[in-house]
Amino acid sequence: MWTIISFCCLVFVGVQGEPGPELWRLEASTHHRIVRDLEDSGDVDVWGHSQDHAQVLVEPEAKSRVTRALEEAGISHLVEVEDVLGLVEEQRAQRRKRSTRSKRAAQALDWNSYHDMNDIESFINWVNVTGGDFVQVIPAAVTEEGRQVLVVHVSDPTVPEPKKKIWIEGGIHAREWISPAVTTYILYQLVTEWRDMLQVTDWYIVPVANPDGYQYTFSDNNRARMWRKNRRNNHARNGRCKGVDLNRNWNLKWGVGASSDPCSETYKGPVPFSEPETDGLQKVMTSIGDMDLFITFHSFGQTILYPWGWTNNAPANAKQLNHLAKKFADKVKDTSGGKIDYKIGGSGPLYGLASGATDDWAYGRLGVPFSYTIELPDEGRHGFLLPENRISSTVIETAAGVQCMVSYLANFGSCARRKTRTRQPIVTPRQQNYTPGQLSFAPRQENLNPREQNFTPREQNFTPREHNLTPRQLSFISRQNHALFRG
Ligand SMILES: [Zn+2]
Repeated sequence: MWTIISFCCLVFVGVQGEPGPELWRLEASTHHRIVRDLEDSGDVDVWGHSQDHAQVLVEPEAKSRVTRALEEAGISHLVEVEDVLGLVEEQRAQRRKRSTRSKRAAQALDWNSYHDMNDIESFINWVNVTGGDFVQVIPAAVTEEGRQVLVVHVSDPTVPEPKKKIWIEGGIHAREWISPAVTTYILYQLVTEWRDMLQVTDWYIVPVANPDGYQYTFSDNNRARMWRKNRRNNHARNGRCKGVDLNRNWNLKWGVGASSDPCSETYKGPVPFSEPETDGLQKVMTSIGDMDLFITFHSFGQTILYPWGWTNNAPANAKQLNHLAKKFADKVKDTSGGKIDYKIGGSGPLYGLASGATDDWAYGRLGVPFSYTIELPDEGRHGFLLPENRISSTVIETAAGVQCMVSYLANFGSCARRKTRTRQPIVTPRQQNYTPGQLSFAPRQENLNPREQNFTPREQNFTPREHNLTPRQLSFISRQNHALFRG
């Protein structure tokens, strides 16, 4: 087993001439006390979970301490990636090269490369403008750095209730880049190919729940690529420790399996909903009320998790949760030609106890009967650094799985386990020759180097009123705002 892994995994030569963190695979689950202790002490950053192993990032200065602790506990380890920063730089260099070569159209969003907040905000703008009465953009919160957390509501206003309400969230953990790729792709499908589903469903898509953190991972500093939390100043240790783990900040059994240390990757925040992102989103969700399906996309692990995360006890409708999850898993497996095989289970039992996550809150507080965290591919080969050539297949397969779940839930069409023989090419706004001027895209600078781009979030502020919304959209948004800012 170890031999196979060592052959498969990449080792890059350091690019900065100084030792960087290594990715280790430990022969112990993340449930293991030693892994928890190492994480709490800040000596490792847990990347991957499994019942029989853990993937952890180890900084050079912690190597000897971690090695000693593992030896004392009798746990073996394998260095999977020797130079993680080298791998980050390699991927960044590829992106830079391709961007320069292709001279991408100003507002293009495709699913062959990863896109920063600038591109994603432009895409949301495009969806808003082209979606007409079908689309409303709800600003849920303003972040520490002045970005807006946007919820895109896609609905056919001519179809009366009742309709199944679906909430899709992505990008709550900054470094999990494949997640916003999936949420934007589902959004794109909704406003192009899936309009018939709006006969029976209403969708709320949060493309990026943590825009500050996500944008930070695109900065020039290769270490920033590993950032998980938001970018809030914790005023801890002379401002050196920033950020709250937004997926430990929701108010249900808050604190279990989360850190009180502002420097920790799993810092739960000073109080539940202390962060503008989580507080803003929970207010929108609460104002919507009866939802039927909640999905938050994370990476990595190819696992569909359902509540609870805070306890190992099974939820009341575990059987149904498992059944619907299997619809997703089967469809993804078929669409991928058998290559992508998801595991299914409760968060606590599979990944170890952790509270303050969105799926537990949606299930336990909001009463959403079907609530999931989907850990996207892969299983750990590339971890958070999933190569760009994996994006298109991942988003197509995942969207097929989601469509299947929703079809089943809404009793709309069949979700037959048939093989997808040919994959439809992804048609992007750019390829369809949309004219930015006609669509009121936000201005965007051409230079794709993040440092030179001088990305100023306040200039990108998304004000729905400026984008020719219909009276119905405006009244919807003012209703939402009223609910948002009440109390
Ligand atoms: Zn995550």
